[in-house]
Amino acid sequence: MIKDPVLEIKGLNVDYGLGDHAVHAVRDVNLTLHRGEVLGLAGESGSGKSTLAYGLTRLLPPPGVISGGQVIYHQADGPPVDVLSLSHKELRKFRWAETSIVFQGAMNSLNPVHKISTQLIDVIKAHEPTSTPASRLARAREMLSLVGISADRLESYPHQLSGGMRQRVMIAMALALEPRVVIMDEPTTALDVVMQRQILGQLIELRERLGFSVLFITHDLSLLVEFSDRIAIMYGGRIVEEAPAADLYRDSLHPYSDGLLHSFPALRGPRRELTGIPGSPPDQRSMPTGCSFHPRCPKAFEPCADKIPVLGEPNLLGDQARSVACWLHPARETVA
Ligand code: SF4
Repeated sequence: MIKDPVLEIKGLNVDYGLGDHAVHAVRDVNLTLHRGEVLGLAGESGSGKSTLAYGLTRLLPPPGVISGGQVIYHQADGPPVDVLSLSHKELRKFRWAETSIVFQGAMNSLNPVHKISTQLIDVIKAHEPTSTPASRLARAREMLSLVGISADRLESYPHQLSGGMRQRVMIAMALALEPRVVIMDEPTTALDVVMQRQILGQLIELRERLGFSVLFITHDLSLLVEFSDRIAIMYGGRIVEEAPAADLYRDSLHPYSDGLLHSFPALRGPRRELTGIPGSPPDQRSMPTGCSFHPRCPKAFEPCADKIPVLGEPNLLGDQARSVACWLHPARETVA
């Protein structure tokens, strides 16, 4: 069943710097997040995934610039809008009430001198100024309970909570205004594996109850395999493979996806040998020619160093739910 799109990233390009010296951190990215879906985005550090998250929410710090593309948000009660063209006021509403963001280390962004109640209530008040104090308090209590923290912890200061609880408070804040899209950029990386899975399990449960969509960004592909509906893999600023999570796990088509899958132990399913990926991610200031993965690819062959493979439906499978950018699986449209 094809669900409605909520967020469509179309041909997005993000550079650092301008002119001839610009570093192209995100190139021609096309991704669609559907209603109620968890879309995972994986790649090593420096692959461009966080830059993509900052770009699409227009939180990119200088010298980052969006040099092309569109981010179409399908409103629940209005026509689609391009986030990149929103006014400052519209953007403010979009960022919290329509889309909320939890970044890596967000738990450290709680204000240490204010109680959790004050901080949660402030978020609700800023966006719903006509709400009553009693309704704000009730919502704050409800949100805390939703993320598995007893409502009496509302009166705690951040230092009185564990790292896992602080991160849950940030997730409660992100959900307080009932956004339709939640973007999470390595939200649990600072936590231990058990806590990471516990929080993500809870998030998925909440998604089922509240119906929001999630763009979940991490370097740990094994997490995504467990919690996502679909996964996109990013390398050198480009999407190199996109597939339903189960298909990607069972039969990844891109050698880089395969390398990522063999870099992290899976907590469930059959054991995989951990082989990692040889070499280091490319320096974005001087990207390799052709397929940017070719210097590290165990399957590189004749065309790889010269021609950039196009992301498209793999010709061999005719599987419309998947796409890959690799000369081993030429895209359908590139084959005569
Ligand atoms: Fe490897 Fe070539 Fe495929 Fe790139 S295009 S991933 S170098 S086989």
